[in-house]
Amino acid sequence: MLAIRKGSATKGVAMYEIDEPKELPEGWALVEVWKASICGTDVHIYQWNEWAQKRMNPPVTIGHEFVGKVLKVNGGLGKVHEGDIVSAESHVVCHTCRECRRNMYHACENTKIIGVHMDGAFAEYIAIPEENLVKLPPSVPLEAGSVLEPFGNAVHTVQSADVRGKKVVVTGVGPIGVMAIPVAKALGATLVIATDLSPYRLQLASNVGADVTINVKEKDPVRVVNDLGGADVVLEMSGSQSALNQGLDMIVPGGEMCILGLPDNNVSLDIANNVVSKGITIHGITGRRLWETWDLGLALVSSGKVDLTKVITHQFDFKDYQKGFDAMMSGNSGKVVLNIK
Ligand SMILES: [Zn+2]
Ligand SMILES: [Zn+2]
Repeated sequence: MLAIRKGSATKGVAMYEIDEPKELPEGWALVEVWKASICGTDVHIYQWNEWAQKRMNPPVTIGHEFVGKVLKVNGGLGKVHEGDIVSAESHVVCHTCRECRRNMYHACENTKIIGVHMDGAFAEYIAIPEENLVKLPPSVPLEAGSVLEPFGNAVHTVQSADVRGKKVVVTGVGPIGVMAIPVAKALGATLVIATDLSPYRLQLASNVGADVTINVKEKDPVRVVNDLGGADVVLEMSGSQSALNQGLDMIVPGGEMCILGLPDNNVSLDIANNVVSKGITIHGITGRRLWETWDLGLALVSSGKVDLTKVITHQFDFKDYQKGFDAMMSGNSGKVVLNIK
């Protein structure tokens, strides 16, 4: 079968002809991959940055966001069956660590990630633990199915705060920030404001329902948001020190900040004035809550409250994967999907 792999510990990825998964361990399923989307993680792996170097041991088939059809299940839980259309949770958790035993699977100490620690979904077939598969209702478009995993990051971020009747600011509207906008609206936010440096991404934010967009190169976001009454909730998706500080500046006393963006380095924040004195709650967001995030995300998509197809800006044939990576690295893209079957 064809697979896009990190073949060696250098920059780039390539397509290889490799054997189909043969041995299916007890409790695992074999899935025919139909569509897969490229994640920021895949770009880190492509670029072979420090994050990727620390975690990966090539050769590994990359990719972890996909939709496909179940071909076979070895034993298992009866959660999915042959012929089911499925997407998947990318984090394989241990079930035995302290966090897992407290129903905090998203924070499992021994998480293994599909397409990083084990062969992934940029391939014609993937072997995967059945418990990670999520059966899709027929009302979910296939394209949307291929981006449910990163959508889960957006859902988890929004659901960590109380956005009902609130003014919400999303700082950084890459694909996950963009997906957080319709989620915040569907869950009751009355005003959603998006900030970014990129006109392309701000346009995308507006396409999915942002009420106000602010290009921080042109306008002071703190001033604009304060003129609108301040932010009750800030969803920080950029990992930038200035966005973090601006977010804390614009938040009202008693407000909440959810941080998903990963800064490259330590950052300096005015904790005394902007966190303690204002009584702000800060949530760190990792992965997706198993399985509350998936349940809520699927409900939002299958009910039509959130249209994920608007977030997909590019689709390429599997063999044109390089064009997909180029689109992702250009910054002028939402989600980029590879059509495998
Ligand atoms: Zn991802
Ligand atoms: Zn665990």
